[in-house]
This record gives sequence, C-alpha cells and structure tokens, in this order.
Amino acid sequence: MSISAEQLIADYFDRAQMPSLPTGHFINGAFVAGDSGEKLQSFDPATGEAFAEFVAGNATDVDKALAAATKGFEAWRKTKPADRVALLNRAAALMRQNHDLLSFMETLDSGKTLAEAEGDVAGSARLLEYYAGAADKLDGRSVPMGPDQMAWTVREPVGVTAHIIPWNYPTSTFVRGVAPALAAGCSVVAKPAETTPFTALMIAELLSEAGLPDGVMNVVTGLGGDAGAPLVVDPRVKHVTFTGSVATGVNVMQAVAPNVTRLTLELGGKSPLIALSDCDVEAAAEGALWAIFSNSGQICSAGSRLIVHRDIHNALMDKLLTRAKGLKVGHGLRNPDMGAINSQAHLDRVSAHVERAKARGCNIVTGGNVMTDPETGKGWFFEPTIIDDLAQDDPAVQEEIFGPVLAVQVVDSDEEALQAANGTEYGLVTGIYSRDISRALRLARDVDAGQISINDYWAGGIELPFGGNGKSGFGREKGWEGLDAYTKFKSITVKL
Ligand code: NAD
Repeated sequence: MSISAEQLIADYFDRAQMPSLPTGHFINGAFVAGDSGEKLQSFDPATGEAFAEFVAGNATDVDKALAAATKGFEAWRKTKPADRVALLNRAAALMRQNHDLLSFMETLDSGKTLAEAEGDVAGSARLLEYYAGAADKLDGRSVPMGPDQMAWTVREPVGVTAHIIPWNYPTSTFVRGVAPALAAGCSVVAKPAETTPFTALMIAELLSEAGLPDGVMNVVTGLGGDAGAPLVVDPRVKHVTFTGSVATGVNVMQAVAPNVTRLTLELGGKSPLIALSDCDVEAAAEGALWAIFSNSGQICSAGSRLIVHRDIHNALMDKLLTRAKGLKVGHGLRNPDMGAINSQAHLDRVSAHVERAKARGCNIVTGGNVMTDPETGKGWFFEPTIIDDLAQDDPAVQEEIFGPVLAVQVVDSDEEALQAANGTEYGLVTGIYSRDISRALRLARDVDAGQISINDYWAGGIELPFGGNGKSGFGREKGWEGLDAYTKFKSITVKL
C-alpha cells in the first residue's frame, strides 16, 4: 500500500483516478456490507464533487459491531501488556509506511492542506507509540492499612468503548481515543463523521494487519442519528468518548445517563489569544494568524478571538492584516496556506454567522465572503476574515463559528483582558503574549481554560493532557491522563 503522495495527487488531478478505498464497515477484523444496503457519498470539499461511496450504517450494524467488540474485549483484556506494546508499535510503523496514502485521504475527505494532514498522520503514529509505551506501565499501588490487612489497587480496562469522531481531525481524534483504549485493554467501536469516514477504516485495517485480534477494533460508518445514537445508548458500551458540537454532546450526555455510562466530552471553544501591551507584536501577529487560519479555523481550540491592548492594537492589526490578505487559499492537495471548508452545510453556517455580523454593522476589516478555489472556480471556501473591535456581548465573540473568522477585542488593562478571556461559556485554550513572565503567569493562573500557552499558541503535544472547561466539555485526552477514561481502579484487601 505504500504509494507516494506525488503519484496519488497526479492520479487524482491528471487521470481522475482514486486508490482503492474501503467499501464496508470494519467489523470483527474484516470489511463487511451494511445491513440496509444504503450508501452515502463522500465529497472532495475543494471541488464539491463526490469521489467515493461508503456504507450508511444502522442499529443492526452497530449491534454486530458491539457483539464483536464484547467478544474481542474478553480476549484482548487477557493479553500480556508487553504484547500490547509490541502490537501498537507495529501499528505505528504501518501508519508511517502508509503516511502518504493516509495524508492524501485525510486531505481529500476533510479539505485541509496536505501539510496539515501530514502533521496529523505523523502525530497519530506518535500517539500510538506513546500509548504503546504506557501499556505495560498501568500499575496500581500498595496501600498501608495497618498490621492486620494488606491492600492494593489494580487498574483494569473499562470494557467496550465507543468513540464518536468529528470531521475536522478525522485521523488524530480517532487515534487519540483509540490508542489509550487499546493500550489499556479495552475494545472499540468507532463512528467517524459522515463526511470523513475513510482514514478511520484504513487505520482499523492497519491495526488488524499489526496483529490486533478480530473484534477488538470495529468501525461503523454512517449518519450520527442512525449509527452514532444506537451506539452510545447501548448498555454494552462502558465508556463513550464524544468529540463534536455542544448540541450533540448534550444529546449524548442525556442518552447515556440512564445507563450511567462513563463519558468524555470534547466540545467546542471560543479560545482567545491575548496580546498584552509589552508583547513582541510581530510574534503575536504571527501567532494570531495561525491560531485562527490553521485548518481554515475548523478547530475546537482555534484562537478565534484576539484580545489586544489598545496601545499595540494598530501596530498588531497592520501586521496581521498584511499577512491575512496574503494567504493563499485553494485545493488542499496543492498545499496552499488554507484549504476548504468541510461541507456545503458548514460553509452555509460560517457564511450565515458573518452575514449576521455584517447586518449588525460589525467592522469586517478583511474577507467576509464565500469563495471558490481560484484555480478551478469550484469548491467550498471562505475568505480569511477578521472582524475588528467587537464588544464582549457580540455574537461573533460569544458563538463558535468554526471557520476562518477572527473576532478582535480591544482592552485597556490586563484585568480587562482577563475578564474578556473568561467572558464566554467555553474554556478550552488560551495563548498569552507578553515579555514579562510574571505578568503572563498571573493571567495563566486566573484564566479558566484547559491549556494555556505563553508566547505561543499551538503548544503542547501528545504528552500533555488536552480538554476543556465549561461548555468545552470534560475529561482529558492525550498524556498519561488520557488513560483515565479507559481504566477503572479496583481495591483488593486481605485480612491477615
Ligand atoms: P457534530 O456534533 O455534528 O458531530 C460529531 C459527531 O457526532 C459525528 O460523527 C456525528 O455523526 C455524530 N453524531 C451526531 N449526532 C449524534 C447522536 N445523536 N449520537 C451520537 N453521535 C452523533 O459535530 P461536528 O460538526 O462534526 O464537529 C464540529 C464540532 O466539534 C465543533 O463544535 C468543534 O468545536 C467540536 N470539536 C471539538 C474538539 C475537541 O477536542 N474539543 C475537536 C474537534 C471538534
């Protein structure tokens, strides 16, 4: 399967040819047809044209996957941890061997640039290696209880886990949940988003090729209501990891409540980059640019607000506007600065937000319009957009737009910056730019967010836990803490 990215891209653009793609759900170690026989189409967001079909799953398909996962769990939980280490490392190596194909598919399915997809695929292989390293270190502790008792804790896998994946990071969101689950000894049923099903199916096959027993890793494709809803509500599922919108997250929370199923929610955000009056303006402008325009702003943790001190507002905006106006937008496979919006429906949502801002008289200083690929005149794109000098209660400050739209807020003090940062219902990420580390750390202490970066925005990584506060959700993924969702503690005592 190790075909080069150049070959794949030439086949796609010049010869209208696609590599052979998975055609069914991945259940019990094999690709299988769906129960209903119905198919959904997958679209290239950068052309708006369909390039493949995949199975529209339903409750019967989910039932089969859960039966396989229930059986798979019994075998997998008993494997030696050292065998899990070796297997997950083999899977990571296979991901690296298939790096070009996976990156190509990720770009085609999601609309992101090839460079972004390549970063996601390489990072996902690292995630597998990181959790491979954890699989034989999940020990408990012995607890002193006095002379007449011995006691200790055991960390056990929770059982079958369900993973609901969004479309903005189909590969890395999938792997960041699946890797710790498998390392802990859990089995998996995953449901990718309806616009981006392919990389999860391909990675499931690679895990199987690496030696994962049948039934441990299952992927059911389809619509959220038809395939996701019956999965999360099933009592055989012992943990649900949901990444997606707040509205669906609330639905999932209500759906799992009767079974008291464990839940991780990774939801939306309205994360700020704060530029204090003493910051390096050049660095803050560059940080703000990529905080919002990476992945066309379709990132839960995008820096979708810039909170800037009045003293440096003009200087920072000059630099930021020059850079934003120079960004090249186009087909992700041609590796521009910014790729497409994932679907027509989502483009309409982004556009509606900005049209409402226009109607309110907001100051849109660049962008603000739907566009197409300048080379082909096709596809679903939105101009890099900046709205200046917004009030805290403006909807563009409060609501997640999930597109390339930056809301700028001007403040007169650090205290005002803090209030602005904490003044939404989200709490995912904050970037703080200042040359005074004490000043920056005071804000880091008081900002309510899951992760804070000083003089950087996209910091962190696989080793650091990631997750939100408030309506950004709860639970942490990545890092050692990412294993907590997939393990439970048992205490054992012996009377002497
Ligand atoms: P979405 O909520 O529409 O869909 C997410 C997933 O849920 C999809 O796979 C969908 O099919 C499934 N789904 C829909 N209804 C369901 C139901 N009733 N039961 C079970 N599953 C169901 O979200 P989206 O539009 O695909 O993703 C964008 C949102 O995700 C944004 O709000 C973004 O902030 C958030 N997001 C958060 C993170 C994070 O780590 N915090 C990461 C990526 C995206």
